[in-house]
Amino acid sequence: MDCIFCHIVSGKIPSDIVYQDEKVIAFRDINPQSPVHLLVIPREHFTSLADLTEKEAHLMGHMVGVANQLARDEGISGTGYRLVINCGKQGGQLVPHLHLHVMGGRQLSGQLG
Ligand code: AMP
Repeated sequence: MDCIFCHIVSGKIPSDIVYQDEKVIAFRDINPQSPVHLLVIPREHFTSLADLTEKEAHLMGHMVGVANQLARDEGISGTGYRLVINCGKQGGQLVPHLHLHVMGGRQLSGQLG
């Protein structure tokens, strides 16, 4: 499958990986919107959040747990941060492989869109 994030998972495309385990991989966003901007993605390809069912509840829980640990590692846990999943075209999703944005290190806008 010609998916850029699958290519990052396989190592075909280089990325600045900050964490990986058997289920997920996390790397720095190539176009950061905040001083800390990481992406946590499942190794398995899901096109978007809409592909997940109750069966994958453990995966989302794990992604949030990893995101929280990374926020602590990056020193933004105390000041606050934002976890975002864009889903589909009108949700602002550009890369069709499920990913959780971890953003912080500056005052983020209160606007949701
Ligand atoms: P979204 O709009 O939620 O689909 O966000 C996609 C994100 O992926 C954007 O913030 C991009 O900057 C980021 N991105 C795209 N290609 C790469 C890449 N090769 N390495 C790291 N981040 C990427």
